Amino acid sequence: MTDRYAVFGHPIAHSKSPLIHAAFARQTGQDISYEAILAPLDGFADSLAAFIAAGGRGANVTVPFKETAFKLALRLSPRAERAGAVNTLSFDRDGMLGDNTDGAGLVADLTHNLHCALGGKRILLLGAGGAARGVIEPLLDQQPAVLVIANRTLGRAQELAGLFGRGVSASAFEAADTPFDLVINATAASLAGELPPLSPRIFGANTLAYDMMYGRDTPFLGFARGHGAATADGLGMLVEQAAEAFYLWRGVRPDTAPVIAGLRA
Ligand code: NDP
Repeated sequence: MTDRYAVFGHPIAHSKSPLIHAAFARQTGQDISYEAILAPLDGFADSLAAFIAAGGRGANVTVPFKETAFKLALRLSPRAERAGAVNTLSFDRDGMLGDNTDGAGLVADLTHNLHCALGGKRILLLGAGGAARGVIEPLLDQQPAVLVIANRTLGRAQELAGLFGRGVSASAFEAADTPFDLVINATAASLAGELPPLSPRIFGANTLAYDMMYGRDTPFLGFARGHGAATADGLGMLVEQAAEAFYLWRGVRPDTAPVIAGLRA
């Protein structure tokens, strides 16, 4: 019997997750279906319950339901607990297990696809929202020399830095003005076509500038390129976080390279 999976969000029509999971299923011979479900803004829990009652085996969760999923899950993986948000749910006899694969997806994209080793590196993380919080622990696991969180609202960056300790500090955008090896844009500025007020001095000859946004060139990537940095968008992260979810559900790791190449084409 075909096992059912889905992604819940609002909006959701733009989601590439059904395409990605269909490609993984074809590649690995797994008998699954994967659909996109538009949950009402005040009705995520009900939509999810209906999906489980209809035999759903697992789900991905995207904006704006990741924090609600965190609250609904009966059990949480340690990385979901630290992220304070859930993007992957598994349903079994013991109830709902919440996990967060965003950070693992980012680290896999950086280290495997972009060959950017993180050990001993200076990392600047822009933003202190859900996406930023979800990637801090997996980044720290790679043992960078420094992790600075810069945010428009400095207090939120300070709060996050305090939560993680271990060599993490907070900064205002303008106050970060020395070169970093890796600058990750986890703000929602790119969604609005905006550029945070960054100093060009954060980019050196060997800097990789990474925007979690994907699907279009962004002012951040243009600014970084203009100051000599190499650049990458978040498409690889999207596919890698999906691969991690697929592995949790099916116990099989798909090959992500042809799926990323297919989406880019
Ligand atoms: P949130 O709404 O939780 O966080 C928004 C963050 O962006 C906050 O730090 C906010 O600062 C900052 N921000 C918003 N607008 C601006 C602006 N105009 N200038 C500077 N800073 C701004 O969003 P998420 O964390 O969920 O998502 C952030 C981005 O990451 C989105 O573009 C999303 O698409 C992308 N993403 C990509 C993924 C992938 O797989 N590639 C996975 C998850 C997210 P303040 O605190 O001051 O409000």
